[in-house]
Amino acid sequence: MPLQPKKILIVFDFDWSFVDQDTDRWIFEVNAPHLRRKMENLESSTQWTDLVAMMCREAHKEGITREQIEGALKILPVHPAMLRAVKKLKASEDPSATFFCLSNANEVFISTILKDKGVANIFDRVTTNPATWEDNDLLVVRRRIDPNGDQHTCQVGCSPNMCKGDELAAFLKEHGEYEKVIYIGDGSNDFCPVVRLREQDTVLARTARGLQRRIEREGAAAGLKCKVVYWEGAWEVEEIFAGL
Ligand SMILES: [Mg+2]
Ligand SMILES: [Zn+2]
Repeated sequence: MPLQPKKILIVFDFDWSFVDQDTDRWIFEVNAPHLRRKMENLESSTQWTDLVAMMCREAHKEGITREQIEGALKILPVHPAMLRAVKKLKASEDPSATFFCLSNANEVFISTILKDKGVANIFDRVTTNPATWEDNDLLVVRRRIDPNGDQHTCQVGCSPNMCKGDELAAFLKEHGEYEKVIYIGDGSNDFCPVVRLREQDTVLARTARGLQRRIEREGAAAGLKCKVVYWEGAWEVEEIFAGL
């Protein structure tokens, strides 16, 4: 009898992980640098998803169009090696990989970029903040966890809009066990799900960013069990995927 193909789960953060930029900041850097500055000034006092939603309303008032925002997303840097890496692994039969995108960006930014790059269906699930274009071309962004409902109870430092660790746990509960989970991330908010990985799992943490800093400072105390591999450019992720 042939052996069962190895079942693995690939979890991707989006900003600075799947893509080489931060979608929330980039659309304003391209279209309205004064709003990008305003974000910087308000970041410490306003919840981030609410801040993005607020800046989208201001941009809309200033006459910035849907076309301009989509245009910025289409020129946002995505490394060809990352696209090759995911397409090749997605097509592989052994290992058989499920792709899960877990991101603090939003549905519109992610779907616009994936579609533009010809990989609209690469992810089996995208868990992120909801967003919709209103009829008048206003982009409305909302927190994944409604601020008026029950809040998550995460103590690891996740932003109120979403606990990435809870979301990963819920996905695994729904889909069952994987022989191996590989988590590709860069930010301090990727630390919570990474702490929940097992010994046989791997985090691919981007160098010189918040996740690396938290792994080094807090990993041992938090009981981090998974293997940690650092990467700087997407070509390295391509190499790692090819060896799975
Ligand atoms: Mg990120
Ligand atoms: Zn959390």
